[in-house]
This record gives sequence, structure tokens and C-alpha cells, in this order.
Amino acid sequence: MALQHRNAKIIATIGPASSSPEAIRALWEAGANVFRLNFSHGSHSDHRAVHIALRALEHETGRPIAILADLQGPKFRIGKLADDKVTLEPGATFHLDLNEDPGDQHRAPLPHPELFRALAPGHEMLIDDGRLRLRVTACDDRTATTEVVDGGGLSSRKGVSLPGVVIPVSPLTDKDRRDLDFALALGVDWIALSFVQRPDDLAELRKTVQGRAGVLAKLEKPAAIDRLEEIIDLSDAVMVARGDLGVEMPPEDVPILQKLIVAASRRAGKPVVVATQMLESMITEATPTRAEAGDVANAVYEGADAVMLSAETAAGAHPIEAVAMMDRIIRRVEQAANYRMLLDAALAEPQATAADAITAAARQVAETISAAAIVTYTTSGSTALRAARERPTAPILCLTGSHATARRLVLAWGIESFFTHDAKSVEEMVDHAQTMARDRGFAKRGDSIVITAGMPFGTPGATNMLRIAWVN
Ligand code: PGA
Ligand code: MN
Repeated sequence: MALQHRNAKIIATIGPASSSPEAIRALWEAGANVFRLNFSHGSHSDHRAVHIALRALEHETGRPIAILADLQGPKFRIGKLADDKVTLEPGATFHLDLNEDPGDQHRAPLPHPELFRALAPGHEMLIDDGRLRLRVTACDDRTATTEVVDGGGLSSRKGVSLPGVVIPVSPLTDKDRRDLDFALALGVDWIALSFVQRPDDLAELRKTVQGRAGVLAKLEKPAAIDRLEEIIDLSDAVMVARGDLGVEMPPEDVPILQKLIVAASRRAGKPVVVATQMLESMITEATPTRAEAGDVANAVYEGADAVMLSAETAAGAHPIEAVAMMDRIIRRVEQAANYRMLLDAALAEPQATAADAITAAARQVAETISAAAIVTYTTSGSTALRAARERPTAPILCLTGSHATARRLVLAWGIESFFTHDAKSVEEMVDHAQTMARDRGFAKRGDSIVITAGMPFGTPGATNMLRIAWVN
């Protein structure tokens, strides 16, 4: 049987610790499915070299690989200070303004007019990942007076955030637009948008992407959570970006939001990624803490489509071990006796569409006859995603005539996608499905498989057929 099959996928972020073709290959062999190019770091030529290495690996192995380009998004920073570091004391008054003169203990430049436009007395301002906390006491459209709530050291160019405030700014900075054009020209499979605040942000990204890649919304702003369902609707996938989310929210709120976002995405049938700090201690250590192992396991029990490694693979001392460890934790949970019960606790009802009727039936038929695999023929990938939404016990083999679809679906739960030519008849389709399931090690002679397809072939959204076949 297909011992290599695993439902939850692994995303590895590429960086200096992992960017050589050899390292990329080792990450793939250890179990990485999706590779993230992080445009907050690295040059275009770095990213291009990684992209070339990944496509070469894909060509050599014959297995699709998904490449995710992660755009930095609007990240706000204070300007320069005259000294390396100043100390802000709790209770002190501190000013921010549009003046470019280097800052000191009493004021700092904040070169973002849109922030002043969004500010109001009573708002909190977090600096340096929340290490410093200021409360606005007075402001206009060029200056703000604040009281220091949580004090500490402040240095130049530290990040600024306004928790819960929707800032009137485009989700794509000039840098993002250049990175986006570059990534689309490379031919990446997914584009991740950082600091999504509202549904319109996705609409703006979609205008440029034009279907050339899947669009993934990173949920890392509390304001986005208020409009979660609409944002999920306009995205092809979402990420629980716990790093930045955890800056703007107290730690105890993050696990609750994670569960909420994973459940909402599963209901919508959109892939959901749980990200950041999953095996954080493996940046330096060869093994994770047991709490970290528990964090990965929890995401798998929740039914997340993918779990992500950031600095662990991009800049850590043990990138390959981190992927291998994640792979072991996922497999262990997926074989555990209580996995099904917890996974099914959040199972969503099928919607009233032909595709859901067929894919829900496919799950049920596969379970009734203990089928070795569910085989879906899909063009756009939407039927395969509806099948994945059912979280079936059998692996979902997705056969598609589109390279783009095969690659994009690598991110999704339970799907093993294969590029294939469209079949010309039902007989050819059944025959091909059996051969594929058998030759790829998902089924053996005498096993049953369940096949879904749309007739006529190649018509997106036409899934209307369910068929049982025995492998010969
Ligand atoms: P980042 O996003 O790694 O690009 O910051 C993930 C997060 O904030 O958790
Ligand atoms: Mn982030």
C-alpha cells in the first residue's frame, strides 16, 4: 500500500540555510511538499535560482511541486534615530511625526502619512514586535502625542503596528508589485499576500494575478478576523500567520483564532496553512521541545491542510531534520486511533451542488467498500478540493491535464496529484485510473477504487459521475 501517503502537507521556507539544489533536494526527500520563497528576504536572482532548482527536481522525479511566493506586504517602520538606541520610560510622553530629522528620546520620525490618517486618541501603537507599547493621547494628520505604556529600548527602523485599526493603504507596496510581476513571470503556483486587512485587498491582488497562480491570504491582522468569511471567499487558500498575529493579540487569543480560522476554511473547502514557530527550537537544536511536537500534532488533529516551517528551514542549523521531524509527527498522528474522531468533529455538510453530492458520496462509497483510493479527474482542481473537504479515509488521487492544477493542489489535504492526458472514453478513464492507482503504489490487484469525473471531459465544474472499479 501507499505507505508514503500523508494527508497534511509540509511547507518549507527557503533561505540561506537551504537554497542550494542539494539542500532543496534533501528537503524534498525528507518530506517537504510546498516550497516558500519569502520576498521579505533575498534578491530576485536568489529566488530565480531556487525556482530553477525546484523545477529541475520536479522534472527529474516526475512529481509536481508547489512553489509559494510570499509578498512582504505593507510593513510600517519608524525612521532613523540619532543614537543607536534610546530608552523609553513608562509614563513618559513620546511624539511621532512626518519630520525626517533623526529621532531621540522624545520623538521619532514615522514616515507613513496613512498611519496618521488612521490614528485616533486612545489607540495603541506597538513597536518592535510589541516590545514597546504606546497609547495615543492626541493626534492630527502629521503628528501624534503618545504616552509610553510598556517602555524599553528603541532603535532605528523598528516595525510599527496599530492593533485592530484598518489602515487605508494598498495591500501591495511598490516593492510587492515588482516582486509579484517577477514571481508571476517565473511561474510560481501560489502568491501569498501579507497583512490582509479587508476583502478588497484580495480583489486588488486578483486583478494582477489573473488566475496565473492561486491567491493565499495571510491572516495576521486582527481587523481581518472581523471579516474572515468574506476574506476566505475571495481567497484560494489562507494562512494562520501566528507570528505577526501574535504581536497584535495576546498569546492566549491565538490558539482560539487558529481553531476558528481552520474550521471556517474547512467549511469553505479552501486549503488552510498553520504557520510560524512550529518547531522554533530546531533553529538551533537537533530535536524540538515536546510542546512544539504538540503544536504540530494539534494542527494535524484540527485538519489543517498544511503546516509550515519558516526560520527552521530558511536559516536554522537543522533544516532537513526539521522537515523530517514534522513528517514523523504528522504520520504518527494520522495513524493514531483518535485522529479520525477529532478530524471528523469539524466535518462540514455537503453543499447543494452536483460536485458536493458526488464527492460526499465518493467518500461514503470508499469507506463502505474499503476502497484503496478515490480518483478524481479534474481540470480546474475544484472537484479535487471538494473531495478533500470531505477529509476521506482513502487517499485522493487527482488526475489532471493541467500542470498548473497538479502543482497548485500539492498544498491541499490528502491530495496526490498527477499530470495526465484527458481520457477519450469512460473505459479509457477507468482503465487509466486503475493503472495509476496500482503503478503508483496506492492499490494492488483486487483492490477497489472509487472514481469521480465530469462528462464530457475537460469541462470545468461538470463533475457528475461516480464509478467503482476493481484493480486488475
Ligand atoms: P512572515 O509571516 O513569516 O512572513 O512574517 C508569517 C507570520 O507572520 O506568522
Ligand atoms: Mn507575518
